[in-house]
Amino acid sequence: MKPIALQHAAIKAEGLVRAGDPGLAISSVHFDTRQLTEGSLFVALTGGARDGHDFLLQAAENGAVAAVISDENKVPQGLPNGFGLILVNDTLRAFQKLAAAYRKESSIPYIAVTGSIGKTTVKDIIAHVLESQMPLYKTYKNLNNHLGVPYSLLQVGEEHQAAVLELGMNHAGEIDLLASLVKPKISVITYIGESHIEFFGSREKIALAKAELLPHTAPDGLVLLNGDSAYLRMIAHLYSGEILYYSVEGPADVWAEKIRSDERGTYFDVCFASGNRFSAFVPLFGKHSVLNALPAAAIGKQLGMTNEQIADALATVKLSAMRFEQVQSAHGALYISDAYNASPASMQAAIETFADLFPARQKVLVLGDMYELGSDSDQMHEQVGAFASARKDRFSLLVTVGEHSRHISDAYEGKKLHFATKEEAVAALLPLRDAHHAFLFKASRGMELWTIISDLERQP
Ligand code: ATP
Ligand code: MG
Repeated sequence: MKPIALQHAAIKAEGLVRAGDPGLAISSVHFDTRQLTEGSLFVALTGGARDGHDFLLQAAENGAVAAVISDENKVPQGLPNGFGLILVNDTLRAFQKLAAAYRKESSIPYIAVTGSIGKTTVKDIIAHVLESQMPLYKTYKNLNNHLGVPYSLLQVGEEHQAAVLELGMNHAGEIDLLASLVKPKISVITYIGESHIEFFGSREKIALAKAELLPHTAPDGLVLLNGDSAYLRMIAHLYSGEILYYSVEGPADVWAEKIRSDERGTYFDVCFASGNRFSAFVPLFGKHSVLNALPAAAIGKQLGMTNEQIADALATVKLSAMRFEQVQSAHGALYISDAYNASPASMQAAIETFADLFPARQKVLVLGDMYELGSDSDQMHEQVGAFASARKDRFSLLVTVGEHSRHISDAYEGKKLHFATKEEAVAALLPLRDAHHAFLFKASRGMELWTIISDLERQP
């Protein structure tokens, strides 16, 4: 963050300086005392299980020189002399306002990525491509919510020439708030799926919730929409500026052709409606990985990169852990860990990708429950089972783990085993962890399916 004076922080947070020198320099803003460094402003959040006001002394010990508070009666004795205090009514809102006002002073391009699936992946690929040309800030891991987005905005410093931020949501109205803080120049909506459908009721309403990003995007900016998602075409009229559709299914504004893969990754041609086209490679698997790379190519072009620069950067993309990550077993097996999260669409994409890879190995699907699917949950698990079943000649075994995944198993017509617990699954998989086998692990994050891999490796 660019340092700011206490008085300016108070103005940005719409609060009052109640203690400390108004000129006191603030070098960073944090709500977690473990992240504080010398010169930090500590935001005492009150909404969670603990009241941030109880940590004011600790914050000062950890380097904070000032705090944003909402209750002066909770200010403890013993704060260091000169410790700054900014009083506000609501510390969370103040944190968000501070971040939004800080962002407003910056003229670099802010790029926002939202969608039901693929946000982190698309964010990481865009950041990787642009990073080859300029220092930039990207959302750390998955910090994409009402705290993570303002946190990220406040991390952007003078050295950064762009920022790529992930915006997440569970409920309507959330993207509206986050996008109002970010005010993106370029926005990407990756996909409209079934995640969180239990809160929304329909995919149209999920699409509308994502569409809240559009009015906050600069009118002279750019919006990239997944052209292969029908629900995204439905909301396009909500943005008055330039919209580009990207697709792996056929010609769009930016699309991919000649997609083919080997054990290293996937090759394709990037094609633009202008006639510009070039060959590219990503060390990733599946058609959806090509789809996820297209916004990066389009944004690279928009920001003046050459075809060669974009292709070179795409060739060295590396994703965050557990996104179709290849893990080599000490016992010879190949584990594909896609255990970070799962929804019906991402399950099918992973199964399809896995079906086409590693023809020399016996392939085992290890699938767990998908959460938050609402009343159609059983049926959606069955659909995944039927999808896998249509490719059953490619797999030697389906192992399902958990409660809901029984419905995946029920719809699968090949060799299969179902277990209530991960421990039972580990015992069944143990004899298979040799060089003849490859495993795909996928389930909702709450299943923590990755522990099966570590348990398999821990056993002698
Ligand atoms: P979260 O809401 O948890 O932050 P996210 O939107 O950031 O999720 P990612 O972490 O990028 O999504 O990807 C989640 C899963 O979906 C991964 O297993 C990934 O491989 C898969 N995936 C990514 N993009 C697609 C796509 N276009 N189609 C299908 N599956 C995809
Ligand atoms: Mg994410």
